[in-house]
Amino acid sequence: MNIFDMTIHELHGALKARTLSSVEATTALLTRITAVEPQIGSFITVTAEVALAAAAAADRRIAAGECDLLTGIPLAIKDIFLTEGIRTTCGSRILDSFIPPYSATSWEKLRERGAVLLGKLNQDEFAMGSSNESSAFGPTRNPWDVTRIPGGSSGGSAAAVAARQAIATLGTDTGGSIRQPASHCGCVGLKPTYGRVSRYGVIAYASSLDQVGPLTRDVTDCAAMMGAVAGYDAKDSTSVDTPVPDYCATLKDGVRGLKIGLPKEYFIAGLDAEVQKTMDEAIETYRRLGAEFVDVSLPHTEYAVATYYLIAAAEASSNLARYDGVRFGHRAAAADGLLDMYTKSRSEGFGSEVKRRIMIGTYALSSGYYDAYYVKAQKVRTLIMNDFISAFADVDLMLTPVAATPAFKIGEKADDPLLMYLSDLFTIPVNLAGTCALSLPAGFSATGLPIGMQLIGKPFGEATILRAGYAFEQATEWHQRKAEI
Ligand code: GLN
Repeated sequence: MNIFDMTIHELHGALKARTLSSVEATTALLTRITAVEPQIGSFITVTAEVALAAAAAADRRIAAGECDLLTGIPLAIKDIFLTEGIRTTCGSRILDSFIPPYSATSWEKLRERGAVLLGKLNQDEFAMGSSNESSAFGPTRNPWDVTRIPGGSSGGSAAAVAARQAIATLGTDTGGSIRQPASHCGCVGLKPTYGRVSRYGVIAYASSLDQVGPLTRDVTDCAAMMGAVAGYDAKDSTSVDTPVPDYCATLKDGVRGLKIGLPKEYFIAGLDAEVQKTMDEAIETYRRLGAEFVDVSLPHTEYAVATYYLIAAAEASSNLARYDGVRFGHRAAAADGLLDMYTKSRSEGFGSEVKRRIMIGTYALSSGYYDAYYVKAQKVRTLIMNDFISAFADVDLMLTPVAATPAFKIGEKADDPLLMYLSDLFTIPVNLAGTCALSLPAGFSATGLPIGMQLIGKPFGEATILRAGYAFEQATEWHQRKAEI
């Protein structure tokens, strides 16, 4: 078996048995990155020196008898996570040369356990997009078909796992940015409950929606990564101080007796026939495993995309005000006074999708329109949340598609923002409701493109969806297929 094909648990076994060192594993991954990067473009920055030094330190820890599950495991993280001393761009020209003075808590937690950083992954600019095409550093390509998008905004995080350029990765999800790329690239991705994982040191897009989560090769790795990053952080006032369960311990509990809801608004006419067929087969698999299905309704689903694009844009316009050319990031060279410097720095630094969001958000928050748009959107958000609360009174989890179609072609939706926004139809409501959801491989199209399914859990119900995902994975072989790259 190639080292770069291994899961965390497989590589951990080899490191612990000392049949392999972390330096050997890290070198294998760095070689793999160099080999496939020209075709895929998952990375913005490769940190080879940092990686090899961390791997050598991990090997010393292992030699001293200290081999945690993550010690010596080569990982990569989205370029939205601050990394002390390592360039962090968030996919934007405005942060082209930004070197953060501290690291994100989620990465710190992995690093402290001995994980090795291979580099920083490509993404849509400021996490705004569903295709990775809005990155200022060029698009990432889907390892299953390089003419197609990997999904977004954590496109690099999903493509790197699928192309075996990292054993596992971290991404963020504001409206679907972990789950949709995981679905398009055939990997496992988890969007945790709002408040479950610290966002300290994660560049803010829409603060009432953003969450950090893992992208992995299988559900076991996802549970391990989740356990490592979850938990209260005094540095993030939105993180919740509730104990972190042992997600690995309950993985094998099965689905017998679990009630799974099928929200009727998610099985719509526009759904691709192969996606529908994949969902039907998944439902059959779960029935065989002893789960029970219940029809449920999330009646305000049709308003979710519009609500999201008002709230997310409003919060983004406020969060992105800090990029003013004064404190950090790009500053225009020649300006005629302060206001001109702000305008020029921002005009030069931001790409067109980011500018569109700032303008929509500023409009929605401006006096005279605030009540009509922003306040109204917040009210609809409450209705959407209540839909989930009612549905979860009857079921333990819900099963839905992640996306209406498999990965689309590069360029296909690039000139039509509305069409692009509709890519996240099935993922956005989960962020508005603040709950958790898992995306995992459930089948393939006739043309060989991965199709994911979404398991939506109750707030802080990560253990239940991970356990249901694990049961499905044991009964199927989709997660074992590899992109030929
Ligand atoms: N595609 C959605 C957007 O552009 C979601 C992105 C995300 O989850 N970061 O806002």
